[in-house]
Order: sequence, then C-alpha cells, then structure tokens
Amino acid sequence: MADQLNGKLIIFSAPSGAGKTTIVRALTERFPRLEFSISATSRQPRHNELHGRDYYFLSAEEFLQACREERFVEWEEVYAGTRYGTLKSEMDRIWEKGNTILFDVDVMGGIRLKSIFGENALSVFIMPPSVAALRERLIGRGTDSPETIEKRVAKAELEISYADRFDRVVVNNDLQEAIAEVEALVADFLKA
Ligand code: ADP
Ligand code: 5GP
Repeated sequence: MADQLNGKLIIFSAPSGAGKTTIVRALTERFPRLEFSISATSRQPRHNELHGRDYYFLSAEEFLQACREERFVEWEEVYAGTRYGTLKSEMDRIWEKGNTILFDVDVMGGIRLKSIFGENALSVFIMPPSVAALRERLIGRGTDSPETIEKRVAKAELEISYADRFDRVVVNNDLQEAIAEVEALVADFLKA
C-alpha cells in the first residue's frame, strides 16, 4: 500500500501554458532520483504516446473498474468525460526503488494529494505573470487551436484562485529565475 511505504513526493500544478513542463524537465535533469508518476487516463493516446511511458491508457470501463476496486489514490474528471488518476501501484513502484515521486496533476488533484500525504509532500503552484502572458505563451507554443486556447485561459482564472492552497507559489516570469527557485525548494525539501 502506498501509504505504508511513506516516501516523499513533489507535486506540480499550474494552469496550462504557465511553463510547468519546461520547469519540471529542467528539474529532472538536476535531480536524477525524481521519478514521474505515470497516471492512468481514459482518453485515447495521441500519436506519439505510449502505454506505460506517457500514461496507462484504460478504457472508460477499465477506469471505472479500477475506481470500484479502490486502486486509485486520487482521480479527477479533468475534462468532461475524461478521467485521470494516480494508481496506488504506481506510487509503490517508484518508492520501492527509493525514488521521490514527481506529480504533474491538475489543481484539484494537487490539493487532494497534499491533503493525503501532508508533510511527506511538497506542493508547488507554477503561476504565470498574468493571464495575458499565459494566452501569449499558449499561442506561441503553437500546439492548440484558438478555441482550445480560450477554454484553457477561461479555466486558468479558476485554477489561479486555488494557488494559496499550495505550499509554495512560484511565478514564472523569467524562466531561469523560476527554475532556480524551484531547484532550491526541491533541494531543501529533499534534505529535510
Ligand atoms: P505548461 O506545461 O504549463 O502547459 P509549457 O512548459 O509547455 O507550459 O510552456 C508554455 C510555453 O511557454 C512554451 O512554449 C514555453 O517555451 C514557454 N515558456 C515557458 N516559460 C516561459 C517564460 N518564463 N517566459 C516566456 N515563455 C515561457
Ligand atoms: P492531457 O493534455 O495529458 O490530456 O491533460 C493532462 C491534464 O490532466 C493536466 O492538467 C494534468 O495535470 C492532469 N492530470 C494528469 N494526470 C493526472 C492525475 O493522475 N490526476 C489528476 N487529478 N490530474 C491529472
């Protein structure tokens, strides 16, 4: 059981486009003992995604079955009709190796994980300098349609309102400064 192994975990949440992926990637290069938790999802794989590497892809029925069997630590319907969740077995897999678990989950999932794991968890909210900057970054990234970008921006307002429920808020204005701030937070947490 995940809660019996009692290792450490670090949770990152952010509105889409805030720069979380960029920052967390830099972090994994600096700290090799951090290992991403691979979530389960009921959505279809994208063309470049692999089962067991990017997600554990489950059918809607398999996902519900795993819920009924209480195999999830937490799960959320992040997008209408699409569920994402953290399997207890995934946490065990990483802790058994002596690694610290890195989570990239939505804001509600981040708050939930922190409430379950308390002092063993560090939760970090990556904050964009403004909603206007967030929109510019999503446009600049070039991966989403204008409609999707507007949906993400609209959701961001609500997500930002939950920032104070996280242990730390890091504003990603200057990228190098944000990375340095996150690295210092993580180094401190791993030392304790
Ligand atoms: P997220 O994972 O939070 O959705 P990404 O890491 O994909 O965000 O970043 C969104 C876009 O913003 C990317 O194109 C990235 O290169 C860019 N970006 C990240 N941080 C900054 C920053 N501090 N200033 C300007 N652009 C940034
Ligand atoms: P994607 O673009 O991969 O379809 O969307 C991923 C979204 O779901 C992101 O907001 C990500 O943080 C969130 N997510 C991924 N895995 C989990 C999980 O296990 N639990 C929760 N609550 N959210 C997740």
